[in-house]
Amino acid sequence: MKKKIIISILLIALSIGIGYQFLDLDIVDKVTAEDLRLKGKTIILDPGHGGMDQGTKGKKQGTIEKDLNLKVAKNIKKELEERTDAKVILTRDTDTSVLPQLDQKKELQARVDMVKKESADIYVSIHHDSYEDPNVEGITTHYTAFRSDDKKLAQLVQKAIFDQKIDSRDRGVKDSDYLVLRENKVPAILIELGFTSNESDEVRMNSTEFQDKAKKGIVDGIIDFLSKK
Ligand SMILES: [Zn+2]
Repeated sequence: MKKKIIISILLIALSIGIGYQFLDLDIVDKVTAEDLRLKGKTIILDPGHGGMDQGTKGKKQGTIEKDLNLKVAKNIKKELEERTDAKVILTRDTDTSVLPQLDQKKELQARVDMVKKESADIYVSIHHDSYEDPNVEGITTHYTAFRSDDKKLAQLVQKAIFDQKIDSRDRGVKDSDYLVLRENKVPAILIELGFTSNESDEVRMNSTEFQDKAKKGIVDGIIDFLSKK
């Protein structure tokens, strides 16, 4: 009889212990479906260049960077709006610059100013790179080391892109002194989705499969970052 009581007490103690463990895990790791909807968050998506400034130009297929940036950014906006309740704003949604005159520094600052005006939570810029050596290829996510959160956002997005088993070279994340990153007051990244100067990158970046995987990865990374904040 005594033995039974002792066993019962032990079992009760054990289940309370396990219960507490679950409770602790719950508190630490719980990201609810509601968190994932990112309600109340604002995201600025910046398709690089536009209007008079066309950005890089593809060697093989003549890809115009500003057009591809806009297409990719629009895809990301649509995906974010489908999967979350976040407010998603494009700095431009047509082939135009934000300012009427061509002044690169002022133009970039105007895009940063939109982040402040909209009280946005993060800034994500979309670009396609070019380099003198045609063998250089792959995807890089740039951030500024001025703010500690920016590297985390860059790492989450870069990882999420390659979690899609995307066919591209992983060039990793890079601390870069770009105006749009430096002058922002919120976590800001600039993604270079490939090199228009590299033949295979150019073919890839124009394919629907690549664009779908890039879009899904970027959105996964953004959700991951904002739902933990
Ligand atoms: Zn660019």
